[in-house]
Amino acid sequence: MIVDFKEENYSYEKIIGDSYSLANKYSEILKYVTVGKSHDNRDILLLKLGVGKQHMVCCGGVHARENINPIVMLRIIEDYAEFYYKHKKQKQEFKKKDHYQKIRDNDEYEDLLYGTCIYEILQTFTILFLPLLNPDGYVISLYGFEAIENPELREICKAKHESSAEWKYNARAVDINRNFPSILYRSKEPGDYAGSENETKALISIFHDYRTKGFLDFHSRGKQIYYHRKVMSEAYNMKQKEIALRLAGVTNYVLNPPEIEVDAGDTGGNTVHYYSERFKKPALTIETIEDDAEFPLDIRYRETTYHELKMVILEFGSRII
Ligand SMILES: [Zn+2]
Repeated sequence: MIVDFKEENYSYEKIIGDSYSLANKYSEILKYVTVGKSHDNRDILLLKLGVGKQHMVCCGGVHARENINPIVMLRIIEDYAEFYYKHKKQKQEFKKKDHYQKIRDNDEYEDLLYGTCIYEILQTFTILFLPLLNPDGYVISLYGFEAIENPELREICKAKHESSAEWKYNARAVDINRNFPSILYRSKEPGDYAGSENETKALISIFHDYRTKGFLDFHSRGKQIYYHRKVMSEAYNMKQKEIALRLAGVTNYVLNPPEIEVDAGDTGGNTVHYYSERFKKPALTIETIEDDAEFPLDIRYRETTYHELKMVILEFGSRII
């Protein structure tokens, strides 16, 4: 395994290094692309997995402190790629003889089914993974404000007087998930405007550069799914709910009721708002990890989250074809 869940502090450098290693090892189906630079000059990375003509987007690490999902997404990429290679090889061997005679137990059968699902999904889709949209925030949450290289940005962050372990923002102290140009966007401070941040622009460019069929944005905490968009049509929301129920079925996460789409006193401008309004295709926010988990998030959450999200992505893909 390239992506190691035992690695205590999974650094930004490790994310970049492991992504390179994965793209090298699985070069037939995995491409590494840099799609932008953060304000403190870190790469915003896109990993394109699959050979399909359709596209779907999976994003993580929008909020700095939610630092379990990025490593989990890399591990899922590794897992899918490995199963894809294995299944492709098996298919070639099976052509020669009746493979079902070779299956000895249930585990092998489960593996075969899972491998078949992954193979089919990656033949249909190229999945656009952005495991860490906010790399500057990520390093703040791991190491504190001193991790920011640019002294001006470092001071802006410190002036917010919030703990680094609970940091949500980027290196300009902007919440990226309130920065997207959508109907519910509201400026929070003087000089604030939608789409101002490099990270926001990078994700918007992905949405526009590819014809995509759907979008998942992974956040933490709560084991919840946000699906309702009050500015969208009833038909759109019915479809959203139908998909959300399927994803809840594979995770035991709960569906958030429509009235808490935006908390009282908060504003919109979320990634999913922009995508829904602009493209009118399915877009869901998936909140991983128990609601009472404390920041910094314990690394023991990686394993369970991995098992949940690897099914979520497969199920989502099968619903939006
Ligand atoms: Zn979040």
